[in-house]
Amino acid sequence: MRLHWHRSDLRVTDNRGLAAAAGVEGADPAPGEGAVLGLFVLDDAVLDHASPPRVAFLLDALASLHDAYRDRGGDLLVRHGDPTAVLPEVAAAHDATGVVWNRGYSGLARERDAAVRDALDDAGVRVAAYHDALHHEPGSITTNAGEPYSVYTYFWKKWRDREKADPYPAPEADQLATPDDPGDLPTLADLGFDDPAAEVPPAGYEAARERLDDFLESDVYEYDDRRDYPADRCTSRLSAHLHYGTIGVREVSEAVAAARADAPDEAARESVDEFRSQLAWREFYHHVLNFNPEVVTENYKQYEHDIDWNEPGEELAAWKRGETGYPIVDAGMRQLLAEAYMHNRVRMIVASFLTKDLLLDWRHGYAHFREKLVDHDTANDNGGWQWAASTGTDAQPYFRIFNPMTQGERYDPAAEYITRYVPELEGVNADDIHSWHELSRSEREQLAPEYPAPIVDHSERREQALAMFKRARGEDPDEE
Ligand code: FAD
Repeated sequence: MRLHWHRSDLRVTDNRGLAAAAGVEGADPAPGEGAVLGLFVLDDAVLDHASPPRVAFLLDALASLHDAYRDRGGDLLVRHGDPTAVLPEVAAAHDATGVVWNRGYSGLARERDAAVRDALDDAGVRVAAYHDALHHEPGSITTNAGEPYSVYTYFWKKWRDREKADPYPAPEADQLATPDDPGDLPTLADLGFDDPAAEVPPAGYEAARERLDDFLESDVYEYDDRRDYPADRCTSRLSAHLHYGTIGVREVSEAVAAARADAPDEAARESVDEFRSQLAWREFYHHVLNFNPEVVTENYKQYEHDIDWNEPGEELAAWKRGETGYPIVDAGMRQLLAEAYMHNRVRMIVASFLTKDLLLDWRHGYAHFREKLVDHDTANDNGGWQWAASTGTDAQPYFRIFNPMTQGERYDPAAEYITRYVPELEGVNADDIHSWHELSRSEREQLAPEYPAPIVDHSERREQALAMFKRARGEDPDEE
């Protein structure tokens, strides 16, 4: 028998490691012999950093994976413990001669995988690991000098033009094993988590495929024009699925290529390409993390001096609650609390606000997003935060500071998104909402007595942010 250790690949279709372990035609060779048994390990080292929305999504995805195995005549073992102990134990109990998994790209994932490999080597069990989560593995798209890219545009051009592999078929019944003791799936409470306060979307392959098909039916053809408008829910909402691997990237790209071929005109084709370029951002940030594991806690871009961020206090708490008095920022933060998700444009706005208006270290924002987002992904979350903080790869230059009022006006002109999440502003006209910072105290109290006044003055804070970055760059902040 062989084991396939599932981690961020909670599916049976288009799963490179599983296809290899099952001996699917055309798949990679795998060590050991016999049918394959799926295994998932609830690892405390991972659960310690998890939060209710993510664990709820994970358990739902595991339930769906469990069903997918059973529907095909196989099964999924779910165990709780340290993978360096669980893997050799399960391998011994089931006479497994080979263990297979798909690679992770964070420093922690790589350390864990190396430790599990050593433990299995000691137990005499052979191991193989495959690249699966990305189309193009780290190190395969480089500059002509063989270095990883730090500028996205050049990465994208190579990524775009490179051939994409086809999806791998799911294993057949005779390639799957059934154990005597599959074990039950735990509940959130069993794992010590409360029910999430946010509404978590359905997980699992079926839900992912449905999302993809819905999106590709028409929204993808207008994605380029509409993707920046948060009131218009036109983006794919595939992020949590791509993170947990409830759908494979090859399957996504195959469907996207078919949609591109069916595009009604050149503008629609360009729109599909814009969507592909977001999928490439995900791969870019995974390459960055693979080659720079320290970015999880350190700035990617080094300034001459430390950036003298403010100390966190009540302003951070107001940002987290969505009570800054900047309507678009508050709407985003409340969407996060209500749905464990936030629209991309608004993620950029709230991240800019935290770092450039509240002058707070991006790590505070990253920690909050990690706790609240259902799609939290180390590579993408870190990439997004360091971009906004002007400390990342190919980041926003420090002197480009989003104005939260004009961003709101431009991307939510009718204040539809804002009022969806900030009920205190319902009934207030969009012009007043977008000039909230300019209204007098009595005007604000008359229009929306429950909604706060701006907690900071954007123009003042902008100047302070520029000075903070100039000092970090070793420049005189008073010099123009
Ligand atoms: P779509 O627009 O439909 O994009 C399709 C897919 O492309 C996404 O599902 C995602 O996998 C990928 N993608 C899109 N935009 C980006 C991007 N800028 N960087 C990397 N990949 C991208 N994305 C996460 O998946 N997890 C995170 O934890 C995360 N944190 C972020 C934090 C900040 C501060 C910022 C600015 C962005 C963050 N993003 C994160 C990127 C982006 O906001 C989300 O991927 C996107 O909003 C998810 O919605 P969607 O699936 O509808 O995206």
